[in-house]
This record gives sequence, C-alpha cells and structure tokens, in this order.
Amino acid sequence: MCLVSIHPQAMLSEPSSTSKSRQRWHWSIFFSVALATFECASSFTQQPNSATSISYRHRHPPSTQSRSTAEPAASSTTHLFMMGEMEEIECDVAIVGGGPAGCTCALYTSRADLSTVILDKNPAVGALAITSHIANYPGVDRSMSGADLLDQMKTQAIQYGTRVERAQVFMIEIKDDDGDNPYNKIVYTPDYLVKARALVLATGAMGRSLPPLPGEEKYLGSGVSYCATCDGAFYRDSEVAVYGATGEAIEEALFLTKFASTVHWITPIDVVEQLEKKRSMANVEFNEWFDPDVLEDLLDKPNVKHWNKVRMLSVEGDTTGVTGVKVKKISQDEEEIIPVEGAFIYGAGGGSKPITDFVQGAVELDETGGVIVNADMETSKKGVFAIGDIRNTPYKQVVVAAADGCIAAMSIEKFLKGRKIIKVDWVHR
Ligand SMILES: Cc1cc2nc3c(=O)[nH]c(=O)nc-3n(C[C@H](O)[C@H](O)[C@H](O)COP(=O)(O)OP(=O)(O)OC[C@H]3O[C@@H](n4cnc5c(N)ncnc54)[C@H](O)[C@@H]3O)c2cc1C
Repeated sequence: MCLVSIHPQAMLSEPSSTSKSRQRWHWSIFFSVALATFECASSFTQQPNSATSISYRHRHPPSTQSRSTAEPAASSTTHLFMMGEMEEIECDVAIVGGGPAGCTCALYTSRADLSTVILDKNPAVGALAITSHIANYPGVDRSMSGADLLDQMKTQAIQYGTRVERAQVFMIEIKDDDGDNPYNKIVYTPDYLVKARALVLATGAMGRSLPPLPGEEKYLGSGVSYCATCDGAFYRDSEVAVYGATGEAIEEALFLTKFASTVHWITPIDVVEQLEKKRSMANVEFNEWFDPDVLEDLLDKPNVKHWNKVRMLSVEGDTTGVTGVKVKKISQDEEEIIPVEGAFIYGAGGGSKPITDFVQGAVELDETGGVIVNADMETSKKGVFAIGDIRNTPYKQVVVAAADGCIAAMSIEKFLKGRKIIKVDWVHR
C-alpha cells in the first residue's frame, strides 16, 4: 500500500521542536513525501482515457464549479482522488495563473474538450485584478473594472468545464514522456498535486523588482516566506512579521491571524491615512490597491500589531532560522528589532518582474527573466507553454495576454490530439 501523502498541517504534531525546526523538517519531509507519493501514485498510472482501470480512494466530480447545462462537462480524463488532505488531480491541461492569459487559454482548451484546471494563488492580486478600469479592451465598456472583466473571463471558462482552484504553485516538474507517461507535467501546491499532459505558465509579471532585504535570501525557507497560505500553519502560536502594504500583503496578514499569536504588520506607507481618505471620499473612484473592508478586518484583529510608516531594514537570524526583523520608523533614526519566528515579505507595491520563482530552471528564461517561447507559445520544454506577462513582452496588455492564451490553447490542441495543422475554433458555413 503506497498511498502515503502527508498534508503540511499534519506535520504540526511533531513533538517538542521549535516552529523553525518544524518548518524545515516539514518541508524536507513534504518534498520527499510529495515525490514519493507521485512515484507511488504512478503505479496506478493508466493510459489516457482509461479512467475505469484505476482504483481511487474517493472519486469526485470533475468540477464543483457551476456549469452551463448546454455545454460539455470536463472530459473524462480528469481523475481525482484524495490522499489524506492532499488531493491529486489528473488532467489534460494544467494552467498556473488565472489572469486574462490563463482564463482565455482555459476557455479554448475546455471548448476543445480537454480537461483543464486553473491553479491561481489569489484572484485579487494579478495585474488585471488590480486595474481599476479597462478603457482599451475591445468591446468592453470603459466603466468596467479589471476585477469584473477577469470575473467574466473566469466564469466563461468555468461554463465550458474549466475547474478553478485557489492554490499557490511552489514547484513544477517535467518528467520524461517515454510514451507510457503522458501525464508527465507535475505541479505542486500545498493542497493539490496536479499531473497534466500539457502545462501552461501564466503567472504574470507582478513579481518584486526591488532588491531583497539583507537576510531575506539567506533565511528563505527557514523563516522567510512569500506565501502565508503555504506556510502559515507552521507559525501556530508564534510571532510573525508581514511586510508590505499591497492588497496581497493585507490578505496574507489576515490569513496569518488564524495561526500566529501576534502578526506584526509593517507598512512603509501611512495605511491608516489612506483608509480614512478612502472612507471620507466614498464616491471618488480610486485605483484601489486595497479593499477597505478587508483592511478594517485586519486592523480590528486583536492579535495584529500594526507598525505604520515603518520600514523593514533586514531579516535577522541564526543557525535555527529567523529570530527577528530590524525596523526603523520613517523620518526617525532609531532602529529596533522585533523578535519573530517568521517574516512574510510582500514588497511595497508590487513590481514588474516575471513571476517564475516556482519554475526553478524547468524551462529557459531570457536575460530579463521572461520565459522564452516560440510562435506557438511553447517553451524550451515540449508540452509546456508560457503566455501573457510572464514572457516579459514589452506589449503588456490584456488583449495581448488573452491572444497569447488563445494561441497556446490552439497549439495545445494540436499537440495533444496529434494534429499536423492548427484547428480553428469556428466553422465556416
Ligand atoms: C496597474 C495596472 C494597470 C493596467 N492597466 C491596463 C489597461 O488599462 N489595459 C490593458 O490592456 N492592460 C493594462 N495593464 C496590463 C495588464 O493588466 C496585463 O498585461 C495582464 O493582466 C497580464 O495578464 P496575465 O494573465 O499574464 O497576468 P496577471 O493578470 O498578472 O495574472 C496572473 C495571475 O497569476 C497568479 N499567480 C501568480 N503567481 C502564482 C503562483 N505561484 N501560483 C498560482 N498562481 C499564481 C496571480 O494570482 C494572478 O491571478 C495594467 C497593469 C497594471 C499593473
């Protein structure tokens, strides 16, 4: 019996160790167990389209999302089963990132009857999601917000059968396809292990372009994290720092309040003033970088200590990992160390660097950090595609990201169905 997956949170029961050592222990075990799980699960591997030959612990419908009854469901090649709290998903197309590029690609692949799963870490933090109004997307009224346009794109993809899950991808792995293993693109998230025949990278370019803080890279993985949803549970009853004033930082800090004894939220800008301004000018439309209700929610939490107009200078630590963060009030000279065991860093307003940290050398990047693709949007690895801002194209526009998604989807359809030519998504009558 080799179904032995352990969810990260299950590892919290490790006795008598600090949360720092727990975290390291957790990750090394998690990675090896995740990989072992994949190997074990592979012993159940079947030929594509032969769902009946597999025995799963639990079966689930391909999608729990709403679906138009007039449209086809996700194809039968989506197989799911639960292993402990880690769910494994097998599908034709896995898409990392649910921005306009990812959603458009999913719309087309789902319409082509390819089972499609989008994994998106947070629907509110992508470039389109934070755009207040879209004045230049053809056919769309200029009063529409980026978030609303994105919602419509996602809904449309779901109506054709796409499954959308909120999950931060932290690693991908491309195994050899020797003919027996078509589900050879593996995507790792804290809650899902996704095996796909084609993989699409669509995480955009909102990565931080700022240089890392002293200590940030040194303690990455032993106290420094960029993902509260992935690592938050390791800091139960510990003190943590969250640095940043973006919508993402606010949501992540709120998430951490469920676990940490104290969340030190450190913001270099005057967030309180911004909130008051927003409240007093209720009818004025801002290019909103935060949701005032979520911000108020965070500030109301009894275990949040807000360090307003304070800059983080460095991450401090020793051989056990992070021990604190050094901060300084803006316009004052005095520095102070806040003792914490975890530092979640979200920068101070996003950047324009392609988000490829989870790629870890799996595909080739250019000198600017963008993923290199050919005219079919295919990367240096067969069956792996990259679309939208992750390419670091100078044409960073919604319509371009959507077009990339369409091209990739049509290329994927050709690739997976073994066609010689591209099949268009319309019939000329
Ligand atoms: C402030 C601003 C205003 C803009 N205004 C316009 C405009 O008016 N018109 C226009 O055409 N263009 C505009 N743009 C550009 C446009 O928004 C982008 O070109 C477009 O959104 C890129 O789409 P994308 O799908 O590649 O990336 P994004 O829209 O950034 O979406 C990427 C998605 O990937 C997800 N993600 C990231 N990392 C992970 C991970 N590790 N695991 C899982 N998911 C992940 C994110 O949650 C996000 O949902 C603007 C951009 C900005 C920043």
